[in-house]
Amino acid sequence: MAYDSENIFAKILRGEIPCNKVYENQHALAFHDINPQAPTHVLVIPKGPYVSNDDFTASATDAEIVGFFRAVGHVARELGVADPGYRLIANTGIEGGQEVPHFHVHICGGRPLGRMINPAG
Ligand code: 5GP
Repeated sequence: MAYDSENIFAKILRGEIPCNKVYENQHALAFHDINPQAPTHVLVIPKGPYVSNDDFTASATDAEIVGFFRAVGHVARELGVADPGYRLIANTGIEGGQEVPHFHVHICGGRPLGRMINPAG
């Protein structure tokens, strides 16, 4: 799948659409999800044009991957969810339920989150 530079997160990265920013480094931007599913629900996105986790892990440089995942851990600690814990979600592709085609992870926490996957689908 080719990267669509008009996706909503690309527009946020370019500053064309506002976001409630939590953190930024050279390789990542973190901001609150517009429709939170938990008391804490923050998205972390890489700054490069990667469609999904599949694309990111295949094509990003080592520096981008390290910079991104260091940011994810940092943000979770700064949000205060690292202890007692949180869920990291990377919906990937059609069956993974990914809606925005720019790689992102969700950091969800702030309450017990129950089972990993809804068996009902
Ligand atoms: P996905 O289903 O692709 O893993 O998750 C996309 C997430 O992006 C959803 O949780 C949705 O609420 C969030 N989202 C969609 N549009 C916007 C937006 O314009 N701003 C922010 N902050 N979040 C968005």
